[in-house]
Amino acid sequence: MSPVRRCSRTACGRPAVATLTYVYADSTAVLGPLATYAEPHCYDLCAEHSERLTAPRGWEVVRLSDPSAPSRPSGDDLEALANAVREAARPQERGDGTRGGGPRTADPMEVARRGHLRVLRSPDS
Ligand SMILES: [Zn+2]
Repeated sequence: MSPVRRCSRTACGRPAVATLTYVYADSTAVLGPLATYAEPHCYDLCAEHSERLTAPRGWEVVRLSDPSAPSRPSGDDLEALANAVREAARPQERGDGTRGGGPRTADPMEVARRGHLRVLRSPDS
């Protein structure tokens, strides 16, 4: 049998009834059915802590389930939605390197490049 999931709050050992997922891209905290497996962005919460949950400033809290409801997820839809949210929360590789000046930024002093060596102009030439 699977071990009982516990609330992730410090000094709280109550059984978890919900999983909080932070969607950093949307500044949204999603409180949904207990996740079937643990992920980095997810925190299990007991009934009391999910009820008292407050989002950080500028964040929105989305509740997918009634905290006072029985701990059992009410349906596959909610779980599917929660899983979709967790999927979206995963860091994704961005194709465009146009922002922030990545490693491709040209060095004005760079004349040539051979392997890991760069040929630089002498400042006094
Ligand atoms: Zn708790």
